[in-house]
Amino acid sequence: MKASTIAIDGPAASGKSTVGELLAQRLGYLYFDTGVMYRAVTWMALARAIPVEDEPAATALAECLHIDVTPPTADDGRQVTVLADGTDITWSIRRPEVDANVSLVSTYGGVRAEMVRQQRRVAGGGHIVMVGRDIGTVVLPDADLKVYLDASVEERARRRWRELERRGEPADYADVLAMMRRRDAIDSGRDIAPLSVPPGAVVVDTTDLSISEVVERVMQLVYERDRDGA
Ligand code: C5P
Repeated sequence: MKASTIAIDGPAASGKSTVGELLAQRLGYLYFDTGVMYRAVTWMALARAIPVEDEPAATALAECLHIDVTPPTADDGRQVTVLADGTDITWSIRRPEVDANVSLVSTYGGVRAEMVRQQRRVAGGGHIVMVGRDIGTVVLPDADLKVYLDASVEERARRRWRELERRGEPADYADVLAMMRRRDAIDSGRDIAPLSVPPGAVVVDTTDLSISEVVERVMQLVYERDRDGA
């Protein structure tokens, strides 16, 4: 039986979203990046001048915000379109102020509970590649295949720095590296659903691999899972 739910976790810029999307295309599955949901809550808090340190207010926002993730509605390089209460926030959620605050908002138990509830509903039908930090540990602990992508922090900072350059938002590499380390520390050190290698996950270090090499490696894991009927 083909692996129907695939969980991909890993730190920022480990290649999760690029690999996840290509994998989903190859398999004809839905691609779902859970990071966009935490980003959407963070962006809306900033846009509505809700202090991100205010946990009850951020939680109330997460519980009432209507987040929609749809196939791309514009041909501008986006993987998906993200709507919050009907507003297209696809590019806004990639801004540096969201990068700087999203890890804090993601530590809040109430925010996480609401996001996880919505993510499980999306994954209920199977045939999905779900990408995030806690997919194999919390959201879908029974996923058919769990993969943990990793890479050195310097390489991940380089990737993020290049991405910002490409988008015409040049940044200082040292700042990007510092931000990456800060986000890693918060994501791995938080009390609820910290970033960690899920039990039963296969770890793939992408530091010296191209995107297509990572995709081939994960496709191989899918085939092995099918063959072994696990
Ligand atoms: O993957 P991305 O960088 O877009 O995720 C943004 C942030 O959202 C992460 O740094 C993390 O704090 C949070 N996140 C999370 N759990 C997930 C996905 C993302 O805590 N499943």
